[in-house]
Amino acid sequence: MIESGGGLGGRRLAPQERFRFACRPGLACFNTCCRDKRLPLLPYDFLRLRLALGLPAARLLAGHVELEADPVSGWPALRIRLGDRGVCPFVTDAGCSVYAHRPTCCRVYPLARAVRPGPGGGPPQEIFLRQETPGCLGWEQPDELDVAAWVEQQGLAPYQKANNHCLRLFLHPARRGKVSLDQAQTHAFISALYNLEAFRPLAASPGFGEKFGFDQARVRAALDDEEELMKLGVDWLAGVLFGK
Ligand code: SF4
Ligand code: SF4
Repeated sequence: MIESGGGLGGRRLAPQERFRFACRPGLACFNTCCRDKRLPLLPYDFLRLRLALGLPAARLLAGHVELEADPVSGWPALRIRLGDRGVCPFVTDAGCSVYAHRPTCCRVYPLARAVRPGPGGGPPQEIFLRQETPGCLGWEQPDELDVAAWVEQQGLAPYQKANNHCLRLFLHPARRGKVSLDQAQTHAFISALYNLEAFRPLAASPGFGEKFGFDQARVRAALDDEEELMKLGVDWLAGVLFGK
């Protein structure tokens, strides 16, 4: 799975390697990067944005999200729908209007992160790469840091933890090559991972835990916590598509 607004590419960073980068208002390039990008919305990105904006999922989906099949994996890929002239709908003259809730791709830049499940069910394995975009003056700033400091500065930890959970579905060991979901499966994907208001009644229905192999305590906890509900949706869909 790739966390990036521009695919993979660029030189791989060694774990403790330091790099120079800073982004701040006042740079001549400020805001110019919030346009003409493919801005993926992973399930946790969408959840954070939805809670911050106080919108029903269906309204956020209809108003600000576009959907296509990922050309490589085949999974439905949700992205922020850019407005006129290719500009992100959340950018203002003062910067990002949803900065505290910006998605993973905006946080991780100027890096990209590729992650895969660890061997034998161990911790996921990740690599980081430099994403040097022409015109980005951040690379010319004197501030020096390493990947761990960048992850902390950008508040990436909860995003990466939730994104790692999605590996159970996106990189399920029973998946063979590119997936091809029919209309009903695509609807289930959107409901279980994004439109949690649509998934909740199923999770709350009598016999859900027994039927799909989840213990009752987990189902109850998920009904009280949106992030847990999203994770339950990931695991439910993995079971439906690939079996246990
Ligand atoms: S420094 Fe780079 S990331 Fe920051 S505003 Fe400029 S172009 Fe965007
Ligand atoms: S979400 Fe915010 S940081 Fe990301 S592209 Fe849009 S305005 Fe820029």
